[in-house]
Parts: sequence; structure tokens; C-alpha cells
Amino acid sequence: MNDKQQILIVEDEPKIASVLAEFLQAEGFQTSILHDGLDVVEKVKSGQFDLIILDIMLPHKDGLTLCKEIRVFSQIPVLMLTARVDEIDRLMGLGFGADDYVCKPFSSREVVARVQAILRRTTNSIQAASDDLLSYKHIVLDQARHVCTLNSKRVELTPVEFKLLQTLMLKPSIVHSRDTLMDKCYDDSRIVSTRTIDSHMKNLRNKLADEDEPNSLLHSIYGVGYKIE
Ligand code: CA
Repeated sequence: MNDKQQILIVEDEPKIASVLAEFLQAEGFQTSILHDGLDVVEKVKSGQFDLIILDIMLPHKDGLTLCKEIRVFSQIPVLMLTARVDEIDRLMGLGFGADDYVCKPFSSREVVARVQAILRRTTNSIQAASDDLLSYKHIVLDQARHVCTLNSKRVELTPVEFKLLQTLMLKPSIVHSRDTLMDKCYDDSRIVSTRTIDSHMKNLRNKLADEDEPNSLLHSIYGVGYKIE
């Protein structure tokens, strides 16, 4: 049985990629290398990797875009390689979802140490994190972070809208009455009227409508309530 941890190295400079691979292999990791951004998402979806080392400047698709795309469906640890040390603080603030950043030129020893540190830190939490993702068609809710994305684009929701959407997504196609939705969304449902639910649903529907998804998935069933389908 093969129980080595697998690292995907995405780096367009062949020399850097192969030196990194050698150092990682010497520490007991298995490695795969991609030299451009094209097939990265597909490769990550295969689920065989434990961590990705991702260069930012890549042909066809850059590392930051890739990191965002990966974060929509996976919490796999990502270590970013950047050529500019002054970029790191800014990038961390922008929340691309990388676990750590290393600046070029780097020592391969340092990268291996960072990889080991990230894996120690995240191995136990990966399972819990993936359980927190709830998805329906093109909508993904990260329940732990309270983040909603539609077709990989972030949608800003209020806490009540998030809770409403979450309630519907937990049971797709099932019609929820306004009373049920109020109970789920408010600690004290006496303070709101069913009209409030209608206006939240209207806002939610507007926020979830975009050019790729013109027909809302949220349906109002006259006299009964709401469902997602
Ligand atoms: Ca590069």
C-alpha cells in the first residue's frame, strides 16, 4: 500500500520544479509536476493530492485565480510561490485562501519545512472543513466561514439570508413554510412577520441572479412557502 503524501507542484520553471520535487522526495513525499495553469483544477479534482505548491506567475492561468477556483470545491492546503516579497502581506489580506506564501528565490529546504508545517497543522482539520461545505447546483455555502459562492463568484449575504438559503439547500425540492423558515432564522420568531421572510427571499433571489444563472433556483409556492430546485 502506498501511504506517502502526494504533493502537486505547479511551477513553470522546470529547474525550480525539479529541485523542489527532489527535496520533497528525499523527505518521503511523492510529487507530480505541472508546468502551466491549464490542467491544475482537473488534476486537483482527482483528489489524489495532500498539498499543492502553486506558483503565482504561470502561463495560461495564474496561481491566484487557480487558488480561488480550487477553494470553491476543496480545502486542500495551498503553498503559494511569489516572486515579490512585498506582495505577501497584500495577498494575505485579499483572502485568496492560500495557507502560506514563500518568496522566490527560496531554499528548497525552507519550502519542505513549510510543507511539513502546513500538513501537520491541517491534516486533522481537513475532514471537518470539507464537511462544512454545502452545495446545490452552482451554489456553494461554506458553513464554517459563512461564505456563499455562485458559479465561483462570492455573493455577500446577510446572516438571515445565509440561514434561509442554508435551510432550503439542506432539503432541496422540499417546500418550507414561512413559519418553518422564521423558526430557523430567528431566535425569537414573534418579533417578525411572515412578510419579513418574503422580503428576505426577494433580496436573496436578486443576489443569486446573474448572467450565467438567469432563472432563480428559489421558488415561491403560492400559499405554502419556498423551495430551492
Ligand atoms: Ca512562474
